[in-house]
Amino acid sequence: TPLPGPMPWEEAAVEDVLIAEIALNKPLDDQYSYIVPDPLRERIRTGGRVRVPFGRGNRFEYGFVTALKTAADYRGNGTSQGVPKRLKSIESLVDEEPLIESQMLQLTKWIADYYLCGWGQVLHSVVPAGVRRGAGTRLETFVALTPEGEQALATHSLGRKQRAVAEILKSRNEPVLATEVAAAADCGTGPIRELERKGFVERLKIRSEVELAAAANVDKTEEFHPTAEQAASLEKILGTIQSGEHRTILLHGVTGSGKTEVYIRAIEEVVSYGRQAIVLVPEISLTPQTIRRFRRRFDSVAVLHSHLNDADRHAHWKRIKSGDVQVVVGARSAIFAPTPRLGLVVIDEEHETSFKQDTTPRYHAREVAEQRTRFAGVPLVLGSATPTLESWHAAKTGRYDLVSMRKRVGNLEMPPVTVVDIRNDPQVRKGQAIGRILTSSIRSALEEGSDEQPGDGQVILFLNLRGFSPAVWCPACGSSLRCDDCDITMTWHRDIRRVLCHSCAREADVPKACPSCGHQGWKFVGAGTQKLEDEVRAKFPEYSLARMDSDSMKRPGSHDEVLSAFRDGKIRILLGTQMIAKGLDFPNVTLVGVIDADTLLHQPDLRSSERTFQLIAQVAGRTGRSHRGGRVLVQSANPADPAIRRAAEHDYLAFSASEMQDREVMAAPPFRHYARVILRGEVESDVKRAARALADRIRQCSDAGGTGVSVLGPAPAPISKLRKLHRFHLQLAATESESLRALWRRVEADMPRTPGVELAIDVDPINM
Ligand code: ADP
Ligand code: ZN
Repeated sequence: TPLPGPMPWEEAAVEDVLIAEIALNKPLDDQYSYIVPDPLRERIRTGGRVRVPFGRGNRFEYGFVTALKTAADYRGNGTSQGVPKRLKSIESLVDEEPLIESQMLQLTKWIADYYLCGWGQVLHSVVPAGVRRGAGTRLETFVALTPEGEQALATHSLGRKQRAVAEILKSRNEPVLATEVAAAADCGTGPIRELERKGFVERLKIRSEVELAAAANVDKTEEFHPTAEQAASLEKILGTIQSGEHRTILLHGVTGSGKTEVYIRAIEEVVSYGRQAIVLVPEISLTPQTIRRFRRRFDSVAVLHSHLNDADRHAHWKRIKSGDVQVVVGARSAIFAPTPRLGLVVIDEEHETSFKQDTTPRYHAREVAEQRTRFAGVPLVLGSATPTLESWHAAKTGRYDLVSMRKRVGNLEMPPVTVVDIRNDPQVRKGQAIGRILTSSIRSALEEGSDEQPGDGQVILFLNLRGFSPAVWCPACGSSLRCDDCDITMTWHRDIRRVLCHSCAREADVPKACPSCGHQGWKFVGAGTQKLEDEVRAKFPEYSLARMDSDSMKRPGSHDEVLSAFRDGKIRILLGTQMIAKGLDFPNVTLVGVIDADTLLHQPDLRSSERTFQLIAQVAGRTGRSHRGGRVLVQSANPADPAIRRAAEHDYLAFSASEMQDREVMAAPPFRHYARVILRGEVESDVKRAARALADRIRQCSDAGGTGVSVLGPAPAPISKLRKLHRFHLQLAATESESLRALWRRVEADMPRTPGVELAIDVDPINM
């Protein structure tokens, strides 16, 4: 491109020109440069948003200012070139106060680089929508009756609707939202405007702020005397806090070992220095029980869960930013909470897959937390009874510090776990979900007690499948009903009397006859939680039961209601999906039954053993939490499977040691780093062609650069079609994570593109 000529103003004071680098919400690595017009010079800040012209015509985009430079900085080292002529000017400022402070800018840049996406995309996604839109502080139009209006009501003849409006305002005797009056008078805004024109009504613009619920009373009575193991863990964490340096500490503690108490005391320490802490928990664990524990111990706790509305989210954001909040408790995205003086980050249940985001930016909160605490020079504490192999490896190789708590608080025993082989169970053979042994165990857990004290034992039954039957099967031709848009069998939901795709939520009626062979007479195969509920009701009609899955818990608050009824003993049997596998702590639960331990085992996934182990260990953690004791029964058709056996023995060390060996042999994570490239499009042949072209290009770049990156695939993705889009994937693997990125940047420089095919890259995928 030819060197641009001097600009008219260049002669005069080119060094005075201020240039802003802008990150737009696009999957681009680059920043865009814009000239800062004079009137904005004093007000523009890095981390704030601006509106800029972009592309052809009269189009505008929003972007974040990532840097401000003088023309001299911009020209960089020694080129004589002026400010390029093509630079446009910023149109306007969106934020007077920056939304993002400098450490967060640095963090988001790191995410963009590490996860191979656009900086602007990351910035866009870390600021909640409610904050971006300024929800909750909008100017609202209120109207009130003027004294003339009040008089007019008695003396003038007004139109019917105008009179209705005036009467409502008179009776309310205070300014009322214009839209509310219109709705109450059953009219549009016309009559209100007419009244205003006559001077009978005045219009007021009021800035309404959302009020956050006042914090609960702080009650410090819950303080325990720490156990020896808790004291040792705490000493390690406090030592790190006082060192003023970043370290990551893996707190490996069995379920019930009192990890939360350790977190709380560590947080108390940083709060006493006037700093803030962030605690990440899986969304599912954001129960009132967890929240109460934090509220009891700290004056000011902000809880960020997914059903906050935009206005509340914004209000929390501002309060956190002001430094007024001591502890932020939230799911994955709470790692971006704008605490001004971060002192500590805790990730509870660090093995949970929900810490990885499955849309761009595909970050893992653990890695982001690691960077954030590194930049801030403060510790990160990861807690789990079943750490991921990645974290375990990091601890074993000295990248993390390891502290362990092997015993439950109060000398409680770990519950005995029995694995029951269901292959020859007569009830299971008849199509029931609950076998003979589990049936009688449930009965005795419920009935256990004495004459004076009738049984009040409670039972948790876990089944990882919602719906009634996971397959609708034709016995004549052997085909099952599949989703039209996804490569997935449809699940029969009896409550809505339809089949449902669990990937895209598509619903359909069950056709009378099989579309493949015309046979009439479907078989509903397998059991989901709805069928399990039927079976339990039939077997134990005298006991109250609740089912907890995403179908039965749609209404906000229903989750909490069921849990408190269970806590009060009003519900004796709780059955459900993952929702009940985590975090619950109920002393009267004396039996946990796992209906089918094999559902995760058969997933075509590198981590299927790890997930099976974790699940059984977590579920087992729900019982034996008091001196009543408790036991666990695990139904399986693979009772000899090592993951199941080791989980039954509560032996994480043996499991992780053997799994680690397998991973090393397979050259899998944590020994090798992976990135997965997914291509999707409506036309299967196009996607396939695009995947091949991309694979060729990657191999070319890889060979040329001697990068040591191996390329696997392309192959159809495990779910080969999703929401009408065909999917192929490729995997890149390397010993050094950085080699993957270096290679990808070269590939990107000249990316083969196929129209109608989109591409996504997932660094450190957790499904592979
Ligand atoms: P984890 O998170 O490791 O599963 P929790 O933190 O939930 O364990 O603790 C298990 C139970 O023990 C909780 O009911 C908690 O209130 C109680 N607890 C924790 N620490 C102590 C202690 N030092 N003394 C007595 N009870 C404790
Ligand atoms: Zn579907």
